[in-house]
Amino acid sequence: MATTVNPADIQPRQVANKSDKKALLDAIRMTLGIQSAAIRHNTQTFNRNRYSAVARIADYEAMKDRARRTKEAAIANLPELLRQLETSVHANGGYFFLAQTAADANRYICDLLVKHQVKLVVKGKSITSEETRLNHTLEGARIEVAESDLAEFILQVADEQPSHIIAPALHYSRERITALFKRKFQTDLPLDTGEELTRFAREILRQKFIAADAGISGANLIAADSGSLMLVESEGNIRMTTLLPPLHIAIAGIEKVVPSRSDFQPFVELLPASATGQPLTSYVSILQPPLAAPSFAAPGKTAKPREFHMVLIDNGRSAMREDSVLHEALYCIRCSACLNVCANFETVGGHAFGGETYSGGIGGSWEAGTGKLMNARFSELCTGCSRCVPQCPVRIDIPWLNQNLRQRMNQADGSSFAKSLFGSLTGSAPEDRVAPVQKQFFANYHIFGKWGTRFASLANLSNRSGASRKVLENTFGVDRRRELSPFPTKTWEQVFREEVPLKQATIAESRIAILADTFTNYGTPERGMAVVAMLRAVGLDVVLTPSLPDGRAAMSQGMIATAREQARALAEMLRPFLDSGRKIVVVEPSVLAMLRFDNKHLLSDSDLFTALANNSFEPLQLLWQVAQEKDIDLSQVFPAARSHLGLRLFYHSHCQQRTCNAASQTIEVLRACGFDVVTSSVECCGMAGSFGYKHDYYEMGVAVGADLFDQVRAAENGSPRVLVASGVSCHDQLQAGLGCSVLHPSEVLVSTLQ
Ligand code: SF4
Ligand code: SF4
Repeated sequence: MATTVNPADIQPRQVANKSDKKALLDAIRMTLGIQSAAIRHNTQTFNRNRYSAVARIADYEAMKDRARRTKEAAIANLPELLRQLETSVHANGGYFFLAQTAADANRYICDLLVKHQVKLVVKGKSITSEETRLNHTLEGARIEVAESDLAEFILQVADEQPSHIIAPALHYSRERITALFKRKFQTDLPLDTGEELTRFAREILRQKFIAADAGISGANLIAADSGSLMLVESEGNIRMTTLLPPLHIAIAGIEKVVPSRSDFQPFVELLPASATGQPLTSYVSILQPPLAAPSFAAPGKTAKPREFHMVLIDNGRSAMREDSVLHEALYCIRCSACLNVCANFETVGGHAFGGETYSGGIGGSWEAGTGKLMNARFSELCTGCSRCVPQCPVRIDIPWLNQNLRQRMNQADGSSFAKSLFGSLTGSAPEDRVAPVQKQFFANYHIFGKWGTRFASLANLSNRSGASRKVLENTFGVDRRRELSPFPTKTWEQVFREEVPLKQATIAESRIAILADTFTNYGTPERGMAVVAMLRAVGLDVVLTPSLPDGRAAMSQGMIATAREQARALAEMLRPFLDSGRKIVVVEPSVLAMLRFDNKHLLSDSDLFTALANNSFEPLQLLWQVAQEKDIDLSQVFPAARSHLGLRLFYHSHCQQRTCNAASQTIEVLRACGFDVVTSSVECCGMAGSFGYKHDYYEMGVAVGADLFDQVRAAENGSPRVLVASGVSCHDQLQAGLGCSVLHPSEVLVSTLQ
């Protein structure tokens, strides 16, 4: 990650459109080479600030609900709100234009500026004007556009597209900005600190503000009943853009309209807290233009009368509104929390995990909605880890949107004999047999797991052979550098059946069914058996369910019909266990997240979904709960001092386990037993299910893991710690990155029983 070499001298604009997969792969190489360190530093700073800012909001969850309800109602009632807004703008003395396309908006604004003989326009940060490529149109009409936001100014100088929704130049380190300014402005001024750079840019921009004939702003929200704009910013440039020039144009998407100014309230708090982690942004402006105060006039000149134009843009949004999935993206308030929290985004930023305008997990829906479906190809970098979901102030299920985009792209790819044959052999749902063979391979892991364990010696021999790994890479896209765990000779179900449990006292009402998830069943039965032993050690009555695929692997490949079939079959299999009063324990956290959250999209029986969601537990979460309820002293049952592993542990929880609020209990249990536990703070290890195994994304997966490896080394500080992780792919990542074996927390606890 320390390298600053751009391997192929790729420029961001060359790879902005990633409808061609090669552009996506080039963009990843470019960003890993030169941008990654700055992106990581800046997003992680935003994250720390956001976590602390939202923790200070007393009614954070209720406020998110209110914000969501406001947006849902506004989008549902949008045509009426637009009519009301037009009336309000006219009543205020302004002009209103509803542009159907980006070209319509650009034409209106360009004609207006030409009519007013505008030579120079200052622009406050407006991502909507990026979407329409307004600067390009205006420059074609010989109108100078001065970007007044510092980050946009940097990008204008560099001729790059934004890499982040609210911090467009997030990928620039201070050193790179210094080098850029020195090169472009041919200056010898000292530009070695943030203050010097800001002062330099401010001097240039001040002259632009004084000379500008017009100002173009965006709008965070617009009130239909009064025509008021809400503008939230940290530099004051947007305020100057709207106040100084006589002609003010506000350009925004139609989704920014809400009924009234009172609806701004939750967003005034949620937006800065979610965006930069500030309780309140430095500048919050609520304007009802055209303003009554005279515009700015340079000394010796006369102030011109004010004029205001509101240009609202549809450009695909009405179609998004009608779309059963994409309409949810219209609730987005562009806070960027989902970008910052995303481990993949933290590593490559929006020049790889983004399109021509929009970036990050939510960016794919916007690129597809306002452009073409294939422009959303970069959304393949969404692994479905779900860390963004609890961070979104309007509760958008971003991974679900991306899984749907993937399904549409699979369908757009078209069918072939090979895909269809492979799909019928592996059991893909008929609708999903158009998906590329590689996706169908990863979606049907359980089939390969089943045959792999049945013929374990042959499969393991083949996994160790360079020639067969090459075939696996070329055919199914499994990177040959990624070490594959050997298949066990017996599945978890077989081992469980053969095991004769010791007779022991049980807590009568605590009856458990452990789901034999396919990853544990065909991959790590020893972990499964450790969970069985751990739960029995506190007197729980444990049975193992049959092993069925849960839909996670298929869903992550955009094979939603297959995922739906699998999720339904699994839920029906679990129903009798629930009906007989058993709680469901799930070892693999990604499967737990299916039962807790994702099945709401897949199961038509909402009662069954709720019953499963409310009665499914991560093993140590359940253990902690039982210990609290039954007043069990875990240090007596699992005394750390008796473990041959020693006391020093490093524990990495799984991304989806954290989203399920089922991670902290593991740390509580291990500490209660007397272990010295240091935990990781990364959002995701970089494997995220199948992502890190894929040839296309292997380097990126390894790069995402770098922070985790560093945290382990720092915690060890020369004295080793036993590595402990809850997810199976986290095991593989830690093992590959640090070269030592990794245990499941249950295996650590069971080590104290011997
Ligand atoms: S689900 Fe994970 S990978 Fe996808 S956008 Fe959200 S944080 Fe990023
Ligand atoms: S999807 Fe949610 S978290 Fe992401 S930018 Fe939009 S509002 Fe913010």
